[in-house]
Amino acid sequence: MDDTVAVIGAGIVGTCTALELLRAGYRVEIYDSGGPGSGASFGNAGLISPDSVLPAAMPGTLQKVPGWLLDGRSGPLSIDPRYLAKAAPWLARFVGASRAAKIPALSTALRALHRDSFDLYRDLLGVGDTADLLRRNGQIQVWHAGDPTTPLMRHLWAEHGVATEPLDADALRQLVPDLAPEFSEGQFFPDNGMTVNPARLVETLFGKVVEAGGILHRERVMKLIPDEVGPWRILTNLGDRRAGKIVVTGGAWSKTLLAPLGIAPPLDTERGYHVMFSASGIDLRLPMVHRGFGIGITPMEHGLRVTGRVEIAGLEKAPDERQSEIVLAHARRLFPTLDTEARSVWMGFRPSMPDSLPVIDRVARHPGLFMAFGHGHFGMTAAPATARAVRSMVRGNTPQIDLVPYALSRF
Ligand SMILES: Cc1cc2nc3c(=O)[nH]c(=O)nc-3n(C[C@H](O)[C@H](O)[C@H](O)COP(=O)(O)OP(=O)(O)OC[C@H]3O[C@@H](n4cnc5c(N)ncnc54)[C@H](O)[C@@H]3O)c2cc1C
Repeated sequence: MDDTVAVIGAGIVGTCTALELLRAGYRVEIYDSGGPGSGASFGNAGLISPDSVLPAAMPGTLQKVPGWLLDGRSGPLSIDPRYLAKAAPWLARFVGASRAAKIPALSTALRALHRDSFDLYRDLLGVGDTADLLRRNGQIQVWHAGDPTTPLMRHLWAEHGVATEPLDADALRQLVPDLAPEFSEGQFFPDNGMTVNPARLVETLFGKVVEAGGILHRERVMKLIPDEVGPWRILTNLGDRRAGKIVVTGGAWSKTLLAPLGIAPPLDTERGYHVMFSASGIDLRLPMVHRGFGIGITPMEHGLRVTGRVEIAGLEKAPDERQSEIVLAHARRLFPTLDTEARSVWMGFRPSMPDSLPVIDRVARHPGLFMAFGHGHFGMTAAPATARAVRSMVRGNTPQIDLVPYALSRF
């Protein structure tokens, strides 16, 4: 049997997975037409959050949606009316996942994937590159006073032993001197942190893939063809290749790859934007989140990055610069002295399942086919634990974490 594993997609999930598989002794060939880190993993907020235990859909989310849609400038969400019919089944499942009875199990499953993120990155990167690329410097979260989900958030943090420290106006001002005075309350999460550059994190990990013997095919995979007796066939835009096993880590595009095999995960994309300020003039030493605006602010090595928006509009529509203008407006409101002169904009496709949990699974009717996609808002945090779980699945070993919550059969 061909002992080559083909990893389809070189985002953070595929890259960590390739490295784990190489370390387990497999031959690994990785496919990505855009090259490593050219998808969602390129321009995200870079928050590494072991303490992320809140699914995107929470009780009360549904009640907030009409207000968000009517007042597109202050809420985090917009839905393209032309995409609404296509998105409706995903949105219905999203609403279903927000029921109070669902939250404890989803929260536990998120915690299991996120908890050891820094340690697992250190195993993959080594001490030197970890010090270069990662900072466990804590995160500040601020949100609107009176948010009805606050008691549940606090309950889940306590339930999972998440360390938090309340920040009053003085403490906030000391940590973030340039923050506008209207934001006077927050919470500090000492165990979270960030990467100084998500794209360079993927590149560095990919360098280790190559060092370990991994081969990159800069090709777009068009079709995966199972063969009952021989290896899988991989038809790409440039070739007809073979591999004994396949791991689909194609982010938001994974659904298209799986469709011809009769596999239809409820995967859609939550499009997100960043605005990067290369000379912001803002004194910020650790990352921040504003939960109500749905905004992350990260002091990266190449400037201040402000990310946000959940735009439900599919994979085909061109970026909508009005979305990045909303991110810009939030940034100005948070930091009135922000220098916005030198800035650039980016849009990326979060690969999102409606219940906020990825699919990490094998396909029983297609031996040798594995799936690891759908990490939504948390892929930079969850990638190393996902990769380790895939390594166990591929080897036929018992994984370190219970993979039942991430099975596709939950839908
Ligand atoms: C604005 C924004 C902010 C975010 N902030 C954070 C954050 O702070 N912290 C966090 O943990 N997460 C964050 N995320 C989420 C995170 O970025 C994603 O969950 C993560 O990057 C997904 O990684 P991935 O490898 O699954 O997908 P991707 O990075 O999208 O990689 C998939 C790759 O597969 C390739 N591919 C797809 N189809 C094919 C094919 N047919 N043939 C060959 N190659 C193919 C693509 O070219 C792509 O490179 C954010 C996302 C966005 C958009």
